[in-house]
Amino acid sequence: MPDALPVADLADRVLAGDRRALAQAITLVESTRPDHRAQAESLLATVLPHTGKGVRVGISGVPGVGKSTFIEAFGLHVIGQGHKVAVLAIDPTSQRTGGSILGDKTRMEMLSRDTRAFIRPSPAGATLGGVARRTREAMLLVEAAGFGVVIIETVGVGQSETAVADMVDLFLLLLPPAGGDELQGIKKGIVELADMIVVNKADGDLANAARHAVAEYRHALALLRPANASWRVPVLSCSALNNAGIDGVWDSIGDYRRILDDSGDIDRRRADQARAWMWNEIRENLLSAFQADGAVRAELPGLEAATAAGAITPGAAARRLLDLFRRV
Ligand code: GDP
Repeated sequence: MPDALPVADLADRVLAGDRRALAQAITLVESTRPDHRAQAESLLATVLPHTGKGVRVGISGVPGVGKSTFIEAFGLHVIGQGHKVAVLAIDPTSQRTGGSILGDKTRMEMLSRDTRAFIRPSPAGATLGGVARRTREAMLLVEAAGFGVVIIETVGVGQSETAVADMVDLFLLLLPPAGGDELQGIKKGIVELADMIVVNKADGDLANAARHAVAEYRHALALLRPANASWRVPVLSCSALNNAGIDGVWDSIGDYRRILDDSGDIDRRRADQARAWMWNEIRENLLSAFQADGAVRAELPGLEAATAAGAITPGAAARRLLDLFRRV
């Protein structure tokens, strides 16, 4: 257990690529105990210089689009190219079970058996901010342990896409082979986050629909202003089930990485992400301190009830609580 391991030893073993130490280290950063947090921060500070050398890929798509089938095929392909791949997940809806996505052992069966892969389910957590922070820190740890390609999976519902896009180099949106009305149904905001769009299930009876979908998405994207001047968001297709087109996706990620490395955009993106992460930490920590404050806790239920009943405005209630929190 983390308690028994001096942080320096744990860091050494993580840097040596020891999988058990890596799993322990991630458990440590996931812990909410204050003493664990202090150890986690010291561990992260030690490994930080050994992180960030590879590529960070976010993958999103609605349930059933084929994310786990795709990640399995893609991960095996990437391993075949000589890389080590880690798969992490963000699913703020997952509770105690340790994650509803990636939690199921039957998913990514071949990949999970390969020693060149490391798969970790979504940490459980009540807030997206908390889950995202722990996944971000887990990402640094897997990188320190030598996993150069990090995939962060999220479900295509809710706000978690933004959290993932904010921590990766490239955000890949996996879409079903359907266009027209269904294209309208895909949240525009998510399409705008995408650095790459891949239409999956381009096989059998669905091959034709997939071709149409690719054409429609290309057309739709042409109408959007590109977020990055040096990169035009490609629309590719693949069959994760038949392992077709997966190499094209990996090649395109390589192109992206080269182009953004050359332009310096990767460094800028990561710098922006680090700054935003710092502010997230400040927000999260302030909120926890606020919620833990004795005077705030004493007054909160009454003020919440009074606000709900319309006896006091939300603004006045918030001000009163903040004054209590700020008291010297
Ligand atoms: P997830 O919920 O997004 O992780 O989706 P899964 O990977 O669990 O896949 C959902 C279903 O789609 C499963 O029945 C898969 O076998 C099927 N599926 C995944 N990829 C493909 C594909 O490329 N072609 C076809 N025809 N089916 C696929």
